[in-house]
Amino acid sequence: MVEAPKFIILGATGSIGTQALDIIRSSNYQLVAFSYGYNTNVALKIIEEFKPLYVSTQDEEGAKLIQTKYPNIVIYTKEEGNNKIASLYPNDAIVINALVGSAGLKPTSIAIETGHNVLLANKETLVIGGEIIKKLVKENNVSLIPIDSEHSAIYQLLKGHNNKEINKIILTASGGPFRTYNKEDLLNVKVEDALNHPNWKMGSKITIDSATLMNKGFEVIEAYHLFGLEVDQIETIIHPESIIHSMVEFKDYSIFAQMGPSDMHLAINYAINGPEHKECDILKPLDLTSVGSLHFEKLDLEKYQLVKMAYTALKKGEFYTTVLNAANEVCVELFLNNKISFVDIERIILEEMSLFASKECLLEFTIDNILHLDQQIKNKIKNKYNS
Ligand code: MG
Repeated sequence: MVEAPKFIILGATGSIGTQALDIIRSSNYQLVAFSYGYNTNVALKIIEEFKPLYVSTQDEEGAKLIQTKYPNIVIYTKEEGNNKIASLYPNDAIVINALVGSAGLKPTSIAIETGHNVLLANKETLVIGGEIIKKLVKENNVSLIPIDSEHSAIYQLLKGHNNKEINKIILTASGGPFRTYNKEDLLNVKVEDALNHPNWKMGSKITIDSATLMNKGFEVIEAYHLFGLEVDQIETIIHPESIIHSMVEFKDYSIFAQMGPSDMHLAINYAINGPEHKECDILKPLDLTSVGSLHFEKLDLEKYQLVKMAYTALKKGEFYTTVLNAANEVCVELFLNNKISFVDIERIILEEMSLFASKECLLEFTIDNILHLDQQIKNKIKNKYNS
């Protein structure tokens, strides 16, 4: 009998992590190791069901609790834990990185260096370390498959095609909960309003990124690193229904779109069970007659300054995207904790980017230096606004 494929999930109790577990469960695959932050209750349920041999957590108390209940499980804690988990079963397990933020970069690089194919939901890995990660993927002869609905769409659409056939790819954006708001309306939005995404149910960090459209900016950078296209071949468009997950325009102006329900299970299933399109009992069909009509609007880069800034940072390269991501991460945290307003997010990020542009950065572009600068920027902004 052939052994079921082995999976390792980084960030297993989050939104993508739990949906990945749904697919692993219904595909009868093995979960051999996982990491999580502080949600020990959910972690215990995962252990009970999947019986993994290794667990890592940020929660020291949770670690003790798990060890008492399951003395045979090997437990790692803190930051180093994700790296340990990412290196297990070298050349033999598939790593799903569902971590949030820059914390995902190092574990991705370790997973690749230890011979794992990586299914990547942590887009920040590519936003801040794209050039390095691409090189590692090549050197270690592994694959890096996106779990992001837009990138999964492009990845599916490009199957059997070659980049010479492509004019451009078009990433769709719902526009988030404030699509129809003007500048004055945005001054009064609350955390609850920003967390109320019209189409997708996601973790809080990415939901705020979708409300500011920083997420779409990050996805432009992510697409650049994944698909080997030029920056100006990557376009964005507002499509409020989120039914078309993204599109490719070929040289003959034929446009291919990938459609489906706004359900991340679809992209996760394709990453786990692709490149064939395989059935999975939790996937639901989309009734187009109930959708009725699809709409498209220009994504105005003057209105959405963070998307424009993502293009700028991508063109400038190296540490520009580190600063963009670090400033965003800390601003989202400050906003969620009611320390700054919604419009402050964009203002502080743009301010940090212009400060960085005025200085010369002589650091060598390495993962350690990226993470060091990341921490510096975050501390600086936190100290200023976290009072
Ligand atoms: Mg996306």
